[in-house]
Amino acid sequence: MTIQPNSLEARDKAYHLHSYTNARALERDGALVIERGEGIYVYDNAGKQYIEGMAGLWSVGVGFGENRLVEAAAKQMAKLPYYHTFTARTHSPSVELAEKLIQMAPVPMSKAYFTNSGSEANDTAMKIVWYRSNALGKPDKKKIISRTKGYHGVTIASASLTGLPNNHRSFDLPLARVLHTSCPHYRVFKTEGETEAQFVERCAQDLEDLILKEGPDTVAAFIGEPVMGAGGVIVPPAGYWEAIQKVLKKYDVLFIADEVICGFGRTGNMFGTTTFDLQPDMITLSKQISSSYQPISALLINENVYQPLADESAKIGTFGHGVTAAGHPVAAAVALENIAIIEERDLVGNVKALSPKFLARLKTIGENPLVIETRGVGLIGAFELAPREGFTAGQLGAKLVPLLMEEGVISRAIGDSMAFCPPMIITDEQVDTMFDKVERGLETFA
Ligand code: PLP
Repeated sequence: MTIQPNSLEARDKAYHLHSYTNARALERDGALVIERGEGIYVYDNAGKQYIEGMAGLWSVGVGFGENRLVEAAAKQMAKLPYYHTFTARTHSPSVELAEKLIQMAPVPMSKAYFTNSGSEANDTAMKIVWYRSNALGKPDKKKIISRTKGYHGVTIASASLTGLPNNHRSFDLPLARVLHTSCPHYRVFKTEGETEAQFVERCAQDLEDLILKEGPDTVAAFIGEPVMGAGGVIVPPAGYWEAIQKVLKKYDVLFIADEVICGFGRTGNMFGTTTFDLQPDMITLSKQISSSYQPISALLINENVYQPLADESAKIGTFGHGVTAAGHPVAAAVALENIAIIEERDLVGNVKALSPKFLARLKTIGENPLVIETRGVGLIGAFELAPREGFTAGQLGAKLVPLLMEEGVISRAIGDSMAFCPPMIITDEQVDTMFDKVERGLETFA
């Protein structure tokens, strides 16, 4: 791409440090300018149309250009553009959203706490775990277990929970109180001759061994995504969550379900907690809570977590935590309208109805000798490219992304896995169009 002087691309290169980007490569190549979106499509500044096969960052569930969300934001902006929720102040959008989330929670929850990103929600969950342990007179019960390849965000705490090397390397992370246990990716981590059931047993045993090694009195919580997203769309094998939860119960370890991707329909139920029969004590939500039209996240906590927290706050005189924009009225109003759209249009039903086709099309791609595995549930899936001589890990995925973009599909390479997570408004025909394009891209890749 030739970059014209003073173009958006040139000014971007000059002034903008990008997330998750090789800064030197950006200096050389520049960034793609996305100008507008409509439905499942986005358009770049040359007018080229792409199917947003990743719904942005697993997030634009109701699709682009949804006018009801624009109107909800404008209406709230005119009425009360900002107010906070510190020192016992509140406003109607935050009350209504908290009530809605508690009512729709997949397991009994007691309170909703608002933040602005998934990272902050998980960071808050971690702080609440520590606060609670102190409240219960267990100051040594502070360690939190996450999983290799889990993704929980980028703040110092949530990046520590994340189990991916690029989130730790050169950042001097993870924090010492965070431990990682095994990733439930059967194909990659199974041992010679190990069945899936034996693998599940070993994952649970690994967790138990880690808890015993550290001392059960020092381990406070476990965090996991029902389906790992940024780790490569890793759907755990049957029986995995049942076995893991058994260990957590045995050692009185809280369970935090990170539903930042799975929440609001992605796996074919409103929550991944339902799809995988989980019993979490806390749930973190973001992304599809507002289809990312506004930044907002929520942490749901049950009574078992809330009561000691309330006691401790009374003892200290405050729950000393909160960000300026927590429960922001405009973001909360947009989230409420977004959830209303998901419910009224039965987008969860749409995910359920289209999932068999989505997974079947992935499976067909899996028959291509260039592909080693396909994975998925609901409308989230991936295919993994087979290793090839002369390419190191991740290079194949990076090579395929632009070929798919030429065909008009945006996917995300996670190493050599190509992830798909389209807006939940996608139609049966559009699923076919998307994968037809992917197959054409793969032909040029061969
Ligand atoms: N948790 C999960 C499962 C995620 O996928 C993400 C982001 O992709 C996060 C947490 C962090 O959210 P955010 O990027 O909004 O901080």
